[in-house]
Amino acid sequence: MSSNLAIDRDALIKAAFEAKAFAYSSPFHPKFPVGAALLSENGEIIKGASIDCVSSGAVCAERTAIVKAVSEGIRSFAAIAIVSDVPRPISPCGLCRQVMQEFCAFEMPVLMAPADYEERRSSGDETGGASILSIRELIHICEPEISYRLVGGESH
Ligand SMILES: [Zn+2]
Repeated sequence: MSSNLAIDRDALIKAAFEAKAFAYSSPFHPKFPVGAALLSENGEIIKGASIDCVSSGAVCAERTAIVKAVSEGIRSFAAIAIVSDVPRPISPCGLCRQVMQEFCAFEMPVLMAPADYEERRSSGDETGGASILSIRELIHICEPEISYRLVGGESH
């Protein structure tokens, strides 16, 4: 089942960058800030940042957004955008892919944008270097190498 909602990709990616500003890393862990923005079927954007705690380990931005939404009673989603400080698109980790599979339609688009998305857009690249894969495509990509090649980025 794919969404009938018109998806403003640029707005969703921008919201993911806004979310990234609130990423947390414990002082004992390397910093890898990630932001995600989840679009609900009713057009609401739910933001999530990566929260990397000493005690509990990392909660990825994607799962932060999904958990926030589900705990507020929102369970129908149209798209998710993911960004980091890496100048290439990054793809969700295995755990996030499984959580997405549980709550999102197989055909739901996952937008993965590089850190320099805005600059690329300003210089005429309409896509801003973003990759788009469905959840179905992502869950069938298990090999990091293949994932890397497909999205031109790296898994986190
Ligand atoms: Zn993850």
